[in-house]
Amino acid sequence: MHTFVKTYMEKHADYFNEVSTYIFNHPETRFEEFKSANFLMEECEKQGFTVERNIADISTAFTATFGSGKPVIAFLGEFDALPELNQKPCITHPERIDGTENIGHGCGHNLLGTGAFAAACATKAYLEERQLPGTVIFYGCPGEEGGSGKTFMVRENAFDGVDAALTWHPSPTNAIMSLPTLANYQITFKFKGVAAHAANSPHLGRSALDAVELMNVGVNYLREHIIQDARVHYAVTDTGGFSPAVVQPQAEVLYLIRAPKIHEAKGIYERICKIAEGAALMTETKLEIEFIKACSNYVPNRSLEKIMYQSLQTIGAGETTEEEQVYAKEIWDTFTQEEQDFYIDLMKGFGYFGDGSEFKGKYLADSISDYRESDEIFYGSTDVSDVSWVVPTVQLTAATSALATPLHTWQMTAQGLTSFAHKGMLRAASTMALTGLNLLASEEQLEEVQNEFKKFQAEYPYTNPIPKHIRPTTLGGEKI
Ligand SMILES: [Zn+2]
Repeated sequence: MHTFVKTYMEKHADYFNEVSTYIFNHPETRFEEFKSANFLMEECEKQGFTVERNIADISTAFTATFGSGKPVIAFLGEFDALPELNQKPCITHPERIDGTENIGHGCGHNLLGTGAFAAACATKAYLEERQLPGTVIFYGCPGEEGGSGKTFMVRENAFDGVDAALTWHPSPTNAIMSLPTLANYQITFKFKGVAAHAANSPHLGRSALDAVELMNVGVNYLREHIIQDARVHYAVTDTGGFSPAVVQPQAEVLYLIRAPKIHEAKGIYERICKIAEGAALMTETKLEIEFIKACSNYVPNRSLEKIMYQSLQTIGAGETTEEEQVYAKEIWDTFTQEEQDFYIDLMKGFGYFGDGSEFKGKYLADSISDYRESDEIFYGSTDVSDVSWVVPTVQLTAATSALATPLHTWQMTAQGLTSFAHKGMLRAASTMALTGLNLLASEEQLEEVQNEFKKFQAEYPYTNPIPKHIRPTTLGGEKI
């Protein structure tokens, strides 16, 4: 199996690099990834998959299926980009691409989507060649960034019948993503007041901006009385206007509320709603609460992680060239000493870098981090988490960026088309394909994975955190 996967990826490396390059060059934000989704769907059809569009009533969500019968192995691919991250590739300073929108692949989803697609293609090719039973599904998952696309897809039962879901994320390390992530809620609080001349008739005005400010003050007091690991961030997305001489008749604030467990995030969200109501009462403004999205905390499946870790070791960390290390060093040098130290400490804390000494003098990972079952929290969120509540799910990271590169930065975008990013993408694809083939080949292994999952499900029944009537929201605030 290993030789098959290796040969397959080598043979088709240029093709997959082209797919990733196309997506990089057509960056689109959440739920508007029409070019990337259409391109991937066409490629899936060319590769002999049967494509089903409009999954969960989302026009950029799709499945591409091959084969029949059990087991059903899913590969999850994302392809959305981020605003404010337009960046020329393969350079080591921030610079926009002229004449294009300010959007860029700052989270490496051009690699993510293509890597999952490549894994599905290799698994399909193996099943086809050996005439083996089993089903491979590539899931085109839109709107991960601020959209929780997969959570909407889970709500509409898009993953029913899947036996295991596999995915990955670009990163500076080659590792199994074994840490639970934070659940989150994203909500817009809209206040409506009454405009008035601020000097001439202020008593006739009811300020929506006051309501936003009072709400934020209230929430900042709340911080003392929520659990330590929770995070509450906000952005004032409408201040009501530019003139201080007018009492602002409308204003809104977007909240992102995170906590280690979904019920904890929900509890904080409900308290914040009360604070918003209080602010509306104080200012005699009207409040509208617009639910944008939510996602659960990630639930690791240890049995599946062990199979994937073995596959990663079999595939290996690959090699880096001197030229790549030199480029990575230049990226590393764009970070402050404090940022570099924080990163290394963080990774050591996760057990990723041993004592850290193995990376001395290297700026691009060329080894595999030890596997560690850990309940330590990763302070971030992903919508893969909702899939992990309904299907045994596993994720890896592959080194596609220089050490210390945070996600959602110009540095991450700049590295999205480098030779090492594409090597990392194929490493991830090979590892996922090999993991999938192991599950397809061994009933015993799959049973162990399923048993662990059933035990979890029996103890923690799943409730989708997004109310049934809520539709996905684009970055521009439109419901699709
Ligand atoms: Zn991402």
